[in-house]
Amino acid sequence: MTNTPVRLRADVLAVPAYRQGATPTKPGYKLSSNENPFPPLPAVLAAIQDRGDINRYAAAAMPDLRAAIAAEFNVGSDHVHIGAGSAALLYQLVQAAAGPGDGVMFAWPSFEAYPSLGLASGAENIAVPLNDQAEHDLDAMAAAVTERTRVILLCSPNNPTGPTIRRDAFDRFMQRVPADTLVILDEAYREFVTDAEAVFGEQVLSLHPNLVVLRTFSKAYGLAGLRLGYAIGDPAILAAAASVAVPLSVTGLAESAALAALTPESQKEQRDRIAVLTERRDALAAGLRELGLDVPVAQGNFVWIPQSVSVDAVALAAAFAEEGTLVRPFPGAGVRISVGEAESLPVVLEVVRGYLAS
Ligand code: PMP
Repeated sequence: MTNTPVRLRADVLAVPAYRQGATPTKPGYKLSSNENPFPPLPAVLAAIQDRGDINRYAAAAMPDLRAAIAAEFNVGSDHVHIGAGSAALLYQLVQAAAGPGDGVMFAWPSFEAYPSLGLASGAENIAVPLNDQAEHDLDAMAAAVTERTRVILLCSPNNPTGPTIRRDAFDRFMQRVPADTLVILDEAYREFVTDAEAVFGEQVLSLHPNLVVLRTFSKAYGLAGLRLGYAIGDPAILAAAASVAVPLSVTGLAESAALAALTPESQKEQRDRIAVLTERRDALAAGLRELGLDVPVAQGNFVWIPQSVSVDAVALAAAFAEEGTLVRPFPGAGVRISVGEAESLPVVLEVVRGYLAS
């Protein structure tokens, strides 16, 4: 890095930028960013092409899209706030609730962008280790809450490890969290959850005025490149989030694509695709366990191989890269592998088998 005479914030310099999953340099599979391997639905592509008016800013209110989402959650449209990906909404919500001297709590390892959220607000990050099942340790998190804790991030299913938060554990946790602390339930992978005992935002939203649920069109809907996410919760919280939003960042192309993705026909096609992906996920997890690996419960569109005596995260990721397949290493913690194309499955198992034998 070159030196600059400009005085930058020391706390910002101390934290690396969000690390995006790499792009393959040779033909192979990209299993490093939890993307959807299916191409966009024809109806979605047609909606983007028809939109046309990219010489204009999109009207930020997006009433049709908010109404469609609100209907699914059985709330009014004022309970829905749209952003350029759920990542943008995370920044807005944390900035709206936490500032210098405050605490932002999350489990760790979890979504790699979380530590940047406290940083951007000037607040302190409080990272609470996962338990030995690679789940949120909600008892430890509740015990760590202080007067200064202004935001708690819960990720279910947890990226990168896979388990959900159970409904009963969530209920107990919420009883211990002060009513003036913002709790964000990040459900980026909610559509892939097959465990009926998981907490689901739509079931608990009305019980907790301090809860905001986050969802995205990036994963199950396969619109990662268009950047569209949404928050559902108390209108006053969402209005505060909107006050710190980067203006004009949600595009009309994303709005039209999302509306096309929410028609009943599109929803049906997406449900079929999700069923394929969850089956593939379960097969991948089972295959890796058969190889002797301690793969935790996998409820997203990815599986997690923890670091162990037989697995070094960086070395295993390097073995994948040699075969042209990209996965995501978390040095010292484990490797996350996204569920990709059907043909990627035997490749993944073969690379892991070869690595373990070497
Ligand atoms: N939350 C979690 C848990 C994620 O894994 C991701 C993406 N990897 C996001 C939020 C952000 O997704 P997007 O901004 O594309 O909606």
